[in-house]
Order: sequence, then structure tokens, then C-alpha cells
Amino acid sequence: MKSENQMKVSFQSLSVNEGFARVAVASFISSLDPTAAEIADIKTAVSEAVTNCIVHAYRDTIGTITIHTKIYPNRRVVVTIKDKGCGIEDIEKAIEPLFTTLPDEERSGLGFSVMQSFTDKMRVRSKVGKGTSVVLEKILSKKAERR
Ligand code: ATP
Ligand code: MG
Repeated sequence: MKSENQMKVSFQSLSVNEGFARVAVASFISSLDPTAAEIADIKTAVSEAVTNCIVHAYRDTIGTITIHTKIYPNRRVVVTIKDKGCGIEDIEKAIEPLFTTLPDEERSGLGFSVMQSFTDKMRVRSKVGKGTSVVLEKILSKKAERR
């Protein structure tokens, strides 16, 4: 299906850019007039994905993170966070709650669980040595149905 609107941003994998990343997505979708809770959910999920690019994908290096946000009919928002970092060997295992490859660095292995619970759908594609894309989908409530 064709998107109604879209935007793409690329930035370096520096933690100082995490705030920019979530605000960029949030302000782009603000034209849909989402609820405060919906904005908070999307920001949280995007933050987790971007942090993963910084700490895992480009561990000990700096690379480019690209976020592609698309708006589809019926208020469906699709955010793709992409890196060209190390990739994930076993995606199914990586998604499991509490699984982390960095247990000594205060990582709790809950990033993917947070992304899943704060969105309607999450997909992960990855190739070792090539990189990872995380696709987050959220359907915003219709204004008329809010109370
Ligand atoms: P937390 O998010 O709770 O701080 P975490 O980042 O380890 O901990 P998840 O975000 O759930 O937990 O990710 C699980 C594991 O998946 C990571 O430990 C890492 O091995 C792998 N992973 C996640 N995202 C990427 C990525 N973009 N590139 C490479 N590996 C990744
Ligand atoms: Mg994480």
C-alpha cells in the first residue's frame, strides 16, 4: 500500500543523538494529532531501537543510523530503524525477554520486549556483518473515538 506521507533522517550513532531521533519521529507524526500516550509509546520504542544500534550494532565504532517513518491510511504509522552494523545471529533468541549479549554493562535484555509492548507490531530483519532493520508499527486512535 502506498504511504500518504514519509520522512527519512540519518545521523551518527552517538548517544547524544538519541533525543533528536525520538523527537524527530514524534514531531513528524504530530500532524496526525496523536494522544500524549501514543507519542510517549512511539518515543520509547524508537529510543530502544536507536540505543541498540549505538551499543550493539556499532559497538566500539561509529556508523550511520537511518530512520524512515511512513504514514499509511487509517492512521497507521510505520517506523523503520536501520543500521549497517554487526547484525544479529539469532533473532528469535535476541527478542526473548531478558536475553542480552552485554550482561556486564547494565543491559537487562528488555529492549525488544519494550518495543513490542509499546507498539502494535514489531519485525526484525538482520544479517550478520551487514546490519539490522527494526520495523515498528503503531495504529493511532481515531480522534472521534477518544474520550
Ligand atoms: P536493554 O535494551 O534492556 O538495555 P539489550 O539491549 O541487551 O538490553 P534488547 O534491546 O532486547 O536487550 O536486545 C537483545 C540483544 O539483541 C542485544 O543484547 C544484542 O545482542 C542484540 N541486538 C539488538 N539490537 C541489535 C542491533 N541493532 N545490532 C546488533 N545486535 C542487536
Ligand atoms: Mg536494548
